[in-house]
Amino acid sequence: MLKTEPNGAPHLATDVPAPDSGIRLVRNFIDGEYHDGQLWFEKRSPLNNAVIARVAEAGRAEVDAAVRAAKAALKGPWGAMTVPQRVDVLYALADGINRRFDDFLAAEVADTGKPVSLASHIDIPRGAANFKIFADVVKNVPTECFEMPTPDGSGAINYAMRRPVGVVGVVCPWNLPLLLMSWKVGPALACGNTVVVKPSEETPQTAALLGEVMNAAGVPRGVYNVVHGFGPGSAGEFLTTHPGVNAITFTGETRTGTAIMKAAAEGARPVSLEMGGKNAAIVFADCDFEAAIEGTLRSCFANSGQVCLGTERVYVERPIFERFVAALKSGAEALRIGLPQDASTGMGPLISQEHRTKVLSYYKKAADLGATVVTGGGVPEMPGDLHAGAWVQPTIWTGLGDDSPIAREEIFGPCALVMPFDSEEEVIRRANDNDYGLATAVWTTNLSRAHRVAAAIEVGIAWVNSWFLRDLRTPFGGAKQSGIGREGGVHSLEFYTELKNVCVKL
Ligand code: NAD
Repeated sequence: MLKTEPNGAPHLATDVPAPDSGIRLVRNFIDGEYHDGQLWFEKRSPLNNAVIARVAEAGRAEVDAAVRAAKAALKGPWGAMTVPQRVDVLYALADGINRRFDDFLAAEVADTGKPVSLASHIDIPRGAANFKIFADVVKNVPTECFEMPTPDGSGAINYAMRRPVGVVGVVCPWNLPLLLMSWKVGPALACGNTVVVKPSEETPQTAALLGEVMNAAGVPRGVYNVVHGFGPGSAGEFLTTHPGVNAITFTGETRTGTAIMKAAAEGARPVSLEMGGKNAAIVFADCDFEAAIEGTLRSCFANSGQVCLGTERVYVERPIFERFVAALKSGAEALRIGLPQDASTGMGPLISQEHRTKVLSYYKKAADLGATVVTGGGVPEMPGDLHAGAWVQPTIWTGLGDDSPIAREEIFGPCALVMPFDSEEEVIRRANDNDYGLATAVWTTNLSRAHRVAAAIEVGIAWVNSWFLRDLRTPFGGAKQSGIGREGGVHSLEFYTELKNVCVKL
């Protein structure tokens, strides 16, 4: 991908493509209209590295226009809407996405290369559902009221009310683009805020397309804005350092979240950070073996391992270790790597050549460190132009310990290190011995042990005998370096509203 230099040096890809080139133009969406940027950058297909879109990059001027539009919209018809009116708009947004399901699906699949079977079951339906679920939350949530005595005997009443925080900057990753974006835009709008979204440079299309749905659903201009570009020296930095942004919500790498938190410190603005993980699966010998294998295969390889909640460390109790590794190996080898439209495809490519280079560097590191490569470890043979795509093999290692970088650092690829353990106490200590604390999956049929281990693991989300089973009313977020704050259900209101106390002396 061609990038702008931080100093604003010109791009190579300034030419607007010919209409018959098959290359899409993806524009910024500001104040209800589509705008070019100062430069264009290329978006390439993960399947074969061909250019599929030219994306308008927002400079400081476009970001400023978007923030000003968002600020103005707070004072306009959007700010005057009642909660039931906003709820109707959010329902219309969900319906609007579902009405254009195929367009969203095509855009998401083109940007990510993920299987249609996955995107049509998870990304797009959940992307739409996020608007409905948060509409229902704001419709039903109560606030508190306290009566208090006063010395004169007349008393006072305190009641709390929620108000929007203002303009919310929303910075998104590429792995589940529409789903993770609407996970933040849904509650932000439900609470009466306006947003400026910075999608990942790798996945600009669905955020841009959502602008059309916003207009069709009657969302007032300026409520939803999209600025495209990169992080440092580009739209990401311009947005997060803009003084008109009142709060910043981010999903992405821990390193990026740290930079954003520093930017947010200027003006003491609140942040919600959903960041990286190095998630452990813990498989006890008394587990339902088939269920544990099926769940672990999904948690390691779904979306080509590019799921923040995915498993990269698998601890297996020693009596079933060999059998478990063998079953995992045959499951991984049965995964069909292929094109998104092929119904038998179990795994697509990684998002980009750049990310593939990172993942393959870990494949090499594991081999150099002496890991046993149970399966994979390289690049699959792909026919024709797919040869140039970002494909890697699903990979399983054994033979390395907790101190190796393979057990400590987030790789974000379809790979896992499997390690044996001998006792519950030992595995809890080892699973917790990590800087991250996002999610874990515990596999056991011992009820007491399930509760004990789930309670002892230092994570935001602990699954027992499942993985990725999500009730959207529950708190979602990470412990330790995996995040700050919780989103989901009423928990999202803590970030997207100011809770105000009104004290009335009677
Ligand atoms: P990333 O941090 O590289 O980029 C995320 C977004 O931040 C992009 O839009 C990028 O342009 C922008 N950005 C980068 N530098 C910036 C800066 N200095 N200022 C402002 N914006 C900046 O992450 P990614 O590679 O897109 O996504 C993968 C990562 O996301 C993984 O670490 C994964 O674990 C994490 N993730 C976490 C969750 C969660 O819920 N905890 C969910 C999905 C992904």
